[in-house]
Amino acid sequence: MLVSPHRTERPWQGQVEKAAAHSQPVYDPECYLCPGNSRVGGVRNPDYTSTFVFENDFAALRPDTPVDRCDERGLLVAESEPGICRVICFSPRHDLTVSRMEAPALRQVVDTWIAQYQELGALAWINHVQIFENRGAMMGCSNPTRTARSGPTTRCPTSRARNRTRKPRTRAPSTPACFATTWRWSAPPPSASSAATPPLWRWFPFGPVWPFETLLLPVRHSTALDELTATERDDLAGILKRLTTRYDNLFQVSFPYSLGFHQRPTDGQAHPEWHFHAHFYPPLLRSATVRKFLVGYEMLAMPQRDITPEAAAARLREVGEIHAV
Ligand SMILES: [Zn+2]
Ligand SMILES: [Zn+2]
Repeated sequence: MLVSPHRTERPWQGQVEKAAAHSQPVYDPECYLCPGNSRVGGVRNPDYTSTFVFENDFAALRPDTPVDRCDERGLLVAESEPGICRVICFSPRHDLTVSRMEAPALRQVVDTWIAQYQELGALAWINHVQIFENRGAMMGCSNPTRTARSGPTTRCPTSRARNRTRKPRTRAPSTPACFATTWRWSAPPPSASSAATPPLWRWFPFGPVWPFETLLLPVRHSTALDELTATERDDLAGILKRLTTRYDNLFQVSFPYSLGFHQRPTDGQAHPEWHFHAHFYPPLLRSATVRKFLVGYEMLAMPQRDITPEAAAARLREVGEIHAV
């Protein structure tokens, strides 16, 4: 990771995005995700009142993909990849983002993620369940209704497989993964006077590529969402709201990001070495309209940051958790 904070001093003549529209209606008759509306192909959404899950009408992966494989002398190998893509609507309200949802509704979202992870992961041919959310047009999400997707596949994706091999070689359950060690380093020294309950989660930049990237970790070792206690799930719902509120406050805009969970593979093994965590990748760099681009040197050599991770963390600490947008 190359850190070049002096880069933000250069005048910006590059692409400037349109600031996202602030106000959205509670219900949009033209939105294919809103309750009671028709989707492509004529399927009508039910009048859902909390979360709503359906099969993606434009799935990138399909369960009926025929098994196929080509192998050019073991060098060039291609295999077909069956999978299932589902869409999760967070709320019947068209206008609500995570930062504007109430904690009980977000807890419902957490529970829906867990149910989806368990249901899809239980299928014998599904070895990996990827849950993610793209927020905002800048991250490729054209619909303002809050949604997350899950994309289970037969194989563990390359980045995940790489992640796993980087973990400590010892596989005993008592050996924390390297992330767990990282949060211990990053933890503030315990204060003798503080009687507050110790936090169940930690969030901080960790080798962040994106300007305000955040890693979210449970303090207690767990391998996936379904191992979280009721209190940890409540806390996760609260943190989702607090962190996205801070993001919104940063540039006074409904902040775009990609959020995703890295959970243990669902290949039937226990994977005690896997430390469950979440990544927030927001693209904005200087303002509501100037984003970070990963081009040239970043594509060819290594990621490069225009602000230090410490400065980004300080900005996120400053902005506060009361919604100001
Ligand atoms: Zn909608
Ligand atoms: Zn990860």
